Amino acid sequence: MDEGTAGPASHAEIRAEVQKLCARFPGEYWREMDRKRAYPSEFVRALTEAGYLAVLIPEEWGGAGLSLFAASAILETIHAAGCNGAACHAQMYIMGTILRHGSEGQKRAFLPEIASGALRLQAFGVTEPGSGSDTTNLRTFARREGDHYVVNGQKVWTSRAEHSDLMLLLARTTPRERTRRRTEGLSTFIVDMRQAVRAGMTIRPIRTMMNHNSCEIFFDNVRVPAENLIGEEGQGFRYILDGMNAERLLIASESIGDAKWFIAKAVAYGKERIVFGRPIGQNQGIQFPIARAHAEMRAAELMLHEGLARFEAGKACGEEANTAKLLAADAAWAAAEACLETHGGYGFAEEFDVERKYREARLYRVAPISTNLILSYIAEHVLGLPRSY
Ligand SMILES: Cc1cc2nc3c(=O)[nH]c(=O)nc-3n(C[C@H](O)[C@H](O)[C@H](O)COP(=O)(O)OP(=O)(O)OC[C@H]3O[C@@H](n4cnc5c(N)ncnc54)[C@H](O)[C@@H]3O)c2cc1C
Repeated sequence: MDEGTAGPASHAEIRAEVQKLCARFPGEYWREMDRKRAYPSEFVRALTEAGYLAVLIPEEWGGAGLSLFAASAILETIHAAGCNGAACHAQMYIMGTILRHGSEGQKRAFLPEIASGALRLQAFGVTEPGSGSDTTNLRTFARREGDHYVVNGQKVWTSRAEHSDLMLLLARTTPRERTRRRTEGLSTFIVDMRQAVRAGMTIRPIRTMMNHNSCEIFFDNVRVPAENLIGEEGQGFRYILDGMNAERLLIASESIGDAKWFIAKAVAYGKERIVFGRPIGQNQGIQFPIARAHAEMRAAELMLHEGLARFEAGKACGEEANTAKLLAADAAWAAAEACLETHGGYGFAEEFDVERKYREARLYRVAPISTNLILSYIAEHVLGLPRSY
């Protein structure tokens, strides 16, 4: 796999290869998955076999050892081709927590198998019904008992839980009232879901407006070996935060891909659809929203590349990663609106794929972090305004 040059026009070879792979999964495939709310197993298998989900795993552990630029190019291309990386994107950023904070034993036990596709690390258990955006208020508790932790509690919106072998779990190990700071006393674990479903863990799918395979998870005295604790007990929130910038940048990449898909689709239809004896795309009322969405997408793309470059250089990139995620999700939504409007009534017809992508693209203004919470981050951490919550 050729990494190409780092930068905006980078990874042309990877993009071309991913595009070729995506061409095997056209609109009909995604429509069928969407109708049945089925997991796109064949698509995920194809990506795994081609090594794309392991690009961030270093070569010594069986991956390709490429940069976040490469991962970004892969996810953007998937979305620009009309496919959906949400089926498997978490593997790319969750794995970073094991890589950065896991022990040698954990890396040896998990990374080569994740890289080969033998083990799927797709589930990320952070959000709870009672805490929502206020992550440190989560209640799921892992109590140490000899060489195990015993986990009780509930997670919600744990995506891909039914299609993952492992879950990265954030749980309290010290009650909040016994910690100096609310960010303390949280720990991160690797949970083997294959064992846990046989011993106290219940997974319940949540039907949503798009095909996302998200679930509720209930823990009833689930025993997790102490050797599956990542890093130091009580420091788990820091480890999760550490991975957030990569997550924001990769989600922004998907939104940029979505925006490109909507814009290309709107342009093509605007040129081809004749009403009042001329292409509808000749009307400024049709052109301008598409042109504006394009301008917004390009601005978001520049911010994304700035964030990726800073991430790769080991520089602080919280501002860029958060801003890129916000701008890209907004640009994708502007493009979705323009595309639907351009298609008129046909935008609502399943066979055009616009309505499906429209539902899928909307998610990223809410998850994995909502626009309001990003604005709060910028206000507090970039502008120095008082914390609002
Ligand atoms: C399809 C889907 C998949 C997901 N996958 C995962 C996953 O795999 N793992 C996981 O852990 N989580 C996942 N999530 C959860 C997601 O990260 C949360 O939904 C998101 O962080 C918001 O939390 P909440 O839904 O509880 O909203 P809430 O926190 O209840 O917020 C509701 C609204 O209030 C706003 N709000 C809250 N507090 C403030 C404030 N102080 N100032 C201004 N506005 C505020 C929010 O911005 C939001 O608009 C997923 C969610 C969805 C919908």
